[in-house]
Amino acid sequence: MAACGVTSGLEAGDMTVLSPVTGTAVASLKPHSVAEAQAMVGKAQAAFRQWRLVPGPRRGELVRLYGEELRKAKEDLGRMVSIEAGKSPSEGLGEVQEMIDICDFAVGLSRQLYGLTIATERAGHRMMETWHPLGVVGVITAFNFPCAPWCWNTALALVCGDPVIWKPSEKTPLTALACQAVFERALARFGAQAPEGLSQVLIGGPELGEVLVEHEKVALISATGSTRMGRTVGPKVAARFGKCILELGGNNAGIVCPSADLDMALRAIAFGAMGTAGQRCTTLRRLFVHESIYDQLVPALKKAYASVSVGNPLESTALVGPLIDQRAYDSMLGALAEARDLGGVVHGGTRESVGPDTAYYVKPALVEMPAQAGPVKRETFAPILYVMKYSDFDAVLEAHNDVGGGLSSAIFTTDLREMETFLSARGSDCGIANVNIGTSGAEIGGAFGGEKETGGGRESGSDAWRAYMRRATNTINYSKDLPLAQGVVFDI
Ligand code: NAD
Repeated sequence: MAACGVTSGLEAGDMTVLSPVTGTAVASLKPHSVAEAQAMVGKAQAAFRQWRLVPGPRRGELVRLYGEELRKAKEDLGRMVSIEAGKSPSEGLGEVQEMIDICDFAVGLSRQLYGLTIATERAGHRMMETWHPLGVVGVITAFNFPCAPWCWNTALALVCGDPVIWKPSEKTPLTALACQAVFERALARFGAQAPEGLSQVLIGGPELGEVLVEHEKVALISATGSTRMGRTVGPKVAARFGKCILELGGNNAGIVCPSADLDMALRAIAFGAMGTAGQRCTTLRRLFVHESIYDQLVPALKKAYASVSVGNPLESTALVGPLIDQRAYDSMLGALAEARDLGGVVHGGTRESVGPDTAYYVKPALVEMPAQAGPVKRETFAPILYVMKYSDFDAVLEAHNDVGGGLSSAIFTTDLREMETFLSARGSDCGIANVNIGTSGAEIGGAFGGEKETGGGRESGSDAWRAYMRRATNTINYSKDLPLAQGVVFDI
């Protein structure tokens, strides 16, 4: 099997890759040029012409082999995620497990790319839907999940008949190159039916992502990252009538009701708010606690925050690793200062001396806020949990939805009415609404994504695969007449 586009990315160059674990350089790469990016699209387009003709279940076989190779490489890839993104060992491995899970899902899917047969109003006619491969898919990913979102997209795209070009975050290119190398092992086992250029990695910054975004031969852009990025990418893809999956920032909230199991809520909140050092799109950032249980839950939370272990993910089993870089630290400090100015009481949020000065480890911050205002209303990509008291359920639902992000949400209650209301049309307006589970840690079986400033995209499970295919409605006339729809008469 031919090579897959890892060319410049493997050479030394002036793109420095830092590990947040120490804040020091672990590699320097030569980014691809715009011309090389354009050439990749051409190669992917050529691959598409062949791959779309390979039967779905056979395409699934390639993804099955990739899943096997990922199982073998899980430890190494997990460690790579810890080195490059600073995740705890367990979370690094968890990210690779997500890749394995979506491969398994996609293999089954490769035999289930179903269309409908639809009742037609005309005698002697049959109407149906057919799903065809879409074309080249450009995948742009964020630093905080350096490989799983690529695989959510790629496993589905490949079984749907589409080649993929991956522009990983400029902060985490090594994990991308490692994933590609593992993919090439699967390609080698799969054999000659896989065309060259089926999966390519594009190394560099936003300007290379823009090549994919603006290229008319890239049929679908699936972009994961900040809302700021989505505001640029979305209109550009729309302007050329391309398709887009946007997976953007969130400002996720939880509501803890009077009847909640507080022990369970405490554990879910701790993981949701502090896990991955608050650097998940689904991180719990706002917590509304009913006034009747506030004095029980919040002291317990403060205790959990004070005792959580912060440390080097490569040398310890600490639950909280580093922030990605100084910029993230500065934005955390800025948000905490703003919160204080608005009357917030900050617990934690201090810098921890782990490793050299170039690394940014922080104690997660719990901030008791008098109201939802200022920094509470936006995503700061750091471990800050704003806690607010509520008394009225309808009012807290309004406050819950009164932010730009619409990704993930949770309610902790054993009251059936509260639970169902939260999940109803007047409840959470997010793409993910959970009961007695935190906001983060989604399984791959469900469609993943959110509303409003989160971008509206869905990827991973359920019927997210449809975004990677084009739908044709076919009407077949097997009668001897030519009746027109709606009884229209046009006799000539
Ligand atoms: P970012 O927006 O800075 O970068 C994300 C990716 O977009 C990178 O690969 C970057 O090079 C690329 N990019 C940036 N501007 C671009 C442009 N104009 N054209 C093309 N490509 C461009 O985000 P980040 O700091 O890496 O990640 C953190 C953000 O991502 C947070 O807001 C987080 O909530 C979000 N995120 C969302 C999800 C989700 O599924 N909703 C998942 C992970 C992260």
